[in-house]
Amino acid sequence: MTEPVKRKLVCDTCGQEVDQVRRDVVDADYNAISKPPLWNCERCYEQKRARREGGRDGAGGGSP
Ligand SMILES: [Zn+2]
Repeated sequence: MTEPVKRKLVCDTCGQEVDQVRRDVVDADYNAISKPPLWNCERCYEQKRARREGGRDGAGGGSP
């Protein structure tokens, strides 16, 4: 079995393969030490950030 050397990064939120992921720090309420770091793609990262800043989420999410 010969696997390709290049390894794709996978977003932990949407599971999409991306070239670059950002580490999303869990909420301060959570224990970041006991929880593994979450890797998010650019889109998910922005969504989480926006949601955290806004506080309230408007209708029209991308959930199936
Ligand atoms: Zn994602």
